[in-house]
Amino acid sequence: MRAINYLARGEVTFDQVADPIAGDGDVVVEVKASGICHTDFEVLNANYGTSAFPVVPGHEYAGVVVDLGPGLSGVTVGQRVVVDPNIECGACRACRRGWAHLCERLGAYGVTENGGFAEFSVVKASALQPIEDMDFSIAALAEPMGCVLNGIEAVYDTTIENTLIFGAGPMGLLIAIALRTRGVTEMTFADIDDARLDLAESFGFHGVASESAELDKLRHGVDLVVDATGAPSVAAKLVDYIANGGKGLFFGVCPADARIEISPFEVFRRQLTLAGSHSLNHNIPAALETIKAYGPDIARIVSHQLSLQDVAAVLSSKPEPGSLKIQAVTD
Ligand SMILES: [Zn+2]
Ligand SMILES: [Zn+2]
Repeated sequence: MRAINYLARGEVTFDQVADPIAGDGDVVVEVKASGICHTDFEVLNANYGTSAFPVVPGHEYAGVVVDLGPGLSGVTVGQRVVVDPNIECGACRACRRGWAHLCERLGAYGVTENGGFAEFSVVKASALQPIEDMDFSIAALAEPMGCVLNGIEAVYDTTIENTLIFGAGPMGLLIAIALRTRGVTEMTFADIDDARLDLAESFGFHGVASESAELDKLRHGVDLVVDATGAPSVAAKLVDYIANGGKGLFFGVCPADARIEISPFEVFRRQLTLAGSHSLNHNIPAALETIKAYGPDIARIVSHQLSLQDVAAVLSSKPEPGSLKIQAVTD
């Protein structure tokens, strides 16, 4: 089969590799849609701590089961599925608490094991979630939506009336979409890119330019403020916009060595809650429900549907400006 392969740090190939074989407990999935994520670049640059070369990247993918390992039941050939990429140890303190995303030995398809930028992918049957008749490209948004729901779980409560999200990229938009399905109506995006703000407005969200007077008016006025940029300069301003008693979520991935200043007095006096969230925790089923509840318009999060070969080219450079979710698709 053909696959994108990370041979070593910074080295991307698109080539013929051995066809995958299903061992005990495994299935072979024919990949139909597989999304690029910021993490794929981190893995390539070995910034993520867990990169294991060589590895086939891709952890946001959906497809069809085409082969089963010996003696497997409960899965059928022809089943349409999405993959939960996380592989937890099941034994550490976090795992015993049900926090797979915080597993001390967390692995993932597309990070430590071969993933979804290939014609076929071998995964444990337990990693599969059926998608019924959902479009593959939409179903491949279930993994990023799972990460979003894990983040929302860390901060959501029914008193939230308004939200400010920094970064109108695919993750920011998915956060807003998930909050909307939970009844939050007043959502504002701040971004430096006008085209992205226009897109956010086309989804019915409000857009304001970074550094604008309009953004300034939101100071100390927002119940939930989210950084979905991963820019330390943005993360540093988060607290300024949170209303008294409100919450801030650090969702974007800042560089590991970045530092920001926060006044503990302010966190105390204005009773602020600051939260982080990492990855997803067995919430693909909830993600699929949220995607269904929002409806097919969510497909507009996907800006590019490319061949595997073209995705290899994107991974070895960077996405073109203005792109949202980029996927490799086959029909
Ligand atoms: Zn991802
Ligand atoms: Zn564990």
